[in-house]
Amino acid sequence: MVLYQSVMITIIMAERKRWSKQSRTILDIIYNNEESLTASSIYDLARETHPNISLGTVYRNLRDLREAGLIRETTSGGVSVYFKHPFHNAHLECEVCHSVIPVDLMLDIGDIHRRTGHTIKRWDLKLIGTCEECERRCT
Ligand SMILES: [Zn+2]
Repeated sequence: MVLYQSVMITIIMAERKRWSKQSRTILDIIYNNEESLTASSIYDLARETHPNISLGTVYRNLRDLREAGLIRETTSGGVSVYFKHPFHNAHLECEVCHSVIPVDLMLDIGDIHRRTGHTIKRWDLKLIGTCEECERRCT
């Protein structure tokens, strides 16, 4: 939770966007669900705390959050579904056999922004080296 909040703050600072209670609610709904959600199910859940929220507001916030890289969108059965951004994703690549292994890696985006002033919008991290098997074969 803390990680995406610091990312969100970074984005607000960068784009001078207002972090509304509604976008915070939508982000919480998405991040508290392991499953992907449709806009209408997000709308139903958001109405529990914001009875006056409109479906248009939900769509607008989903678009902003997606553009900010905080959530991802894909289609399931012809319907758009939304899920949390896999912030922890990185890949190990072997330069000998070119195998790719996903690994969990947490980066503190807020801290990186504070230290460098760089606004981070997305990442694609590959750690290149030699896998266990190739290492054994080479030595
Ligand atoms: Zn290898």
